[in-house]
Amino acid sequence: MIIITRPDISDAELDHIRERVEAAGLHTHLSRGEQRTIIGCIGDEERLAEVPLKSLPGVESVMPVLKPYKRASREFSVNRTVVRIGDDATIGGDAITVIAGPCSVEGRDMLRETAVAVRDAGATVLRGGAFKPRSSPYSFQGLGREALTLLAEVRVSEGLPVVTEVLDTRDVDLVAAHADMLQVGARNMQNFALLAELGRVQRPVLLKRGLSATITELLMAAEYIMAHGNTSVVLCERGIRTFERATRNTLDVSAIPVLKRETHLPVVVDPSHAGGDAELVAPLAFAGIAAGADGLIVEVHPNPECALSDGDQSLTPAAFASLMARLGAFASAAGRSMSTPLPRRHADDLRETAA
Ligand code: PEP
Ligand code: MN
Repeated sequence: MIIITRPDISDAELDHIRERVEAAGLHTHLSRGEQRTIIGCIGDEERLAEVPLKSLPGVESVMPVLKPYKRASREFSVNRTVVRIGDDATIGGDAITVIAGPCSVEGRDMLRETAVAVRDAGATVLRGGAFKPRSSPYSFQGLGREALTLLAEVRVSEGLPVVTEVLDTRDVDLVAAHADMLQVGARNMQNFALLAELGRVQRPVLLKRGLSATITELLMAAEYIMAHGNTSVVLCERGIRTFERATRNTLDVSAIPVLKRETHLPVVVDPSHAGGDAELVAPLAFAGIAAGADGLIVEVHPNPECALSDGDQSLTPAAFASLMARLGAFASAAGRSMSTPLPRRHADDLRETAA
């Protein structure tokens, strides 16, 4: 921590600042300039968190030297983290992982049809909302528990691990019992009670960036989950709110290389919620991979025009297959490969095991 003092600081004020810093267990080092004195605080910066340094007389500004996130920081881990989802899928290795499925689980047949289509096109994780965080209380809120049962069923029958959103601390154990990965939606990124609760479950977490959250705030949200005991966190850039209205959100492409520089955690891109338009999904997906993302999460619906949520941005199975076919070239240009598709045989084995 570096404290910059006002030009008119008195000796008594300077002594008082040093006393407060030293009382917290740090050493101080003075650097006297013509106009200002700079106080270097040496030691564990966290101990100064509770000292209101800016309010002390004579202080002009305070500059932290260390990042506020530790466990999530790039320095914390020599290797980049690879997060395992279920038995067969991973995010964060050399290969690009694609998560795909409907915005909301609307029923058994549509979920199964979508699961088969996305798996056959090369997705290795199935998404599907059970509890939906809709902006309007009058919009479809998701099938809730029924959807969780369907996800758990299709996960076995089609051999795909599943990710679904948890909205409420009271549902964490229930959702963890039905899904391989738990999603924290953009609107809940700073629901600290939920983040803390997710710290104690043995399931990886897909943490989506808040609508107006900075990169540091996203990393601090990950830090919450990690500080409470769960280090399997995947970050998701899903577009942020800007002045631009031509797209639903603005995909912050620059967040991807910044996050890769700042953290060892994997980063995926959600081109569906970023653009809010099926036509924009492929270009935004390509941009995400080109910028260094470890994967994608894409909304797919067997019949988007009848979808109960996010139909405008949902790809048909055919459009998704076409996106997947073109993605390989972008992955290899970025020095990556595509995740090996889950073999159909594997699904058959699982069906037999379940029978
Ligand atoms: C979703 O993934 O369906 C969703 C609601 O996303 P977000 O939280 O990013 O808006
Ligand atoms: Mn959606």
